[in-house]
Amino acid sequence: MEEKIICPRCGNTDLKYFGNLNGKLYCRKCITFKGDGIEYQTKIKKEINYQIKFELSEKQKEISQATLDNYTKGINTLIYAVTGAGKTEIVYETIAYVLSNGQTVGFAIPRKDVVIELLPRIKEAFPMCKVVAVYGEHNSDLRGDIILLTTHQLFRYKNYFDLLIIDEIDAFPYQDNQILEYFSKKSIRKNYIYMSATPSEKIKRIFLKEGFSVLTLFSRFHKNSLPIPKVIKSPDIFQYFFIIKLLKKFHEKNKRVLVFLPTIDLSEKIFKYLKLFFKKINFVNSKRKNKDQIVDDFREKRLTTLITTSILERGITIDDLQVIVMFANHQVYSSQTLIQISGRVGRNIKHPQGHVFFLTSKVTINIKNAIKDIRYFNENM
Ligand SMILES: [Zn+2]
Repeated sequence: MEEKIICPRCGNTDLKYFGNLNGKLYCRKCITFKGDGIEYQTKIKKEINYQIKFELSEKQKEISQATLDNYTKGINTLIYAVTGAGKTEIVYETIAYVLSNGQTVGFAIPRKDVVIELLPRIKEAFPMCKVVAVYGEHNSDLRGDIILLTTHQLFRYKNYFDLLIIDEIDAFPYQDNQILEYFSKKSIRKNYIYMSATPSEKIKRIFLKEGFSVLTLFSRFHKNSLPIPKVIKSPDIFQYFFIIKLLKKFHEKNKRVLVFLPTIDLSEKIFKYLKLFFKKINFVNSKRKNKDQIVDDFREKRLTTLITTSILERGITIDDLQVIVMFANHQVYSSQTLIQISGRVGRNIKHPQGHVFFLTSKVTINIKNAIKDIRYFNENM
């Protein structure tokens, strides 16, 4: 009989990932996940309160309560909430309950920048608690009441979190990454809450099959509907004309515009082209230096147009923003990505509306599905 080898760290059984070093087997799948981990400790029960600056909407309150009920019954929850719904605050009630019982909370997000952005918000909401952020090189202090971390750091917390929350469960690099999924499962002692505006079919299927709870919130916190993208169907070459026309129109009204391009090359090429017509313009992509500074320039209105790849498809919140997606038929634009990109618009209560344009040579199934889903959310607010 063939002997099955299992990596004790990541559960890998695929022989092609095992190497041999001086007669000892090692696993290539999880070799990059190295560093200290910590062990579970029971804590003293104490009353924990939290504070939010605004009042939750009725619907938010309802879901907040249902999430807590699920946790007390030992049921996992998926919070399926549209972009700009205010889903972070919905889990505060459950977090406070878990902490009050001397249990531990992990709040994981695939991307580091979101961890950094969320840290001051969680600290402010839970002033009585020690909130630590753990990511990349930032991992000297692993202990806290609330641990905010990237999904890449979950391997340090084996059987540790009574409650693990994973926000943006469908985001890169977590989605479809078996190792990260394995480490996240291993870190949970009791239950988990997943949150997403665009959960994958796979996740929805698992929740249905296992009888877990799916709570939907299809209205934004300010109760305005989501902007429906407008499609301009045109051959690629004419898009160079339409982009100028749209940008001029928006700039006349003093609106800032985020222009999405499918590739790094195109982001640079379109920047060079648009620079001939517009002044306060710049571009970012994953290879661009000082991209945080450039995004800040845009945020603080020193730029009126920012060209970007899908690195800014999530997380960014800018007031009074308009969005244009060029070459929207490109394969990088899944319906999930298009929904996230469209969700950048109208997030602020001061400007809850705005425009989203898809310039495309072909109306793909992904474009159709994205628009269909957004309409569905609006009809079921
Ligand atoms: Zn392994």
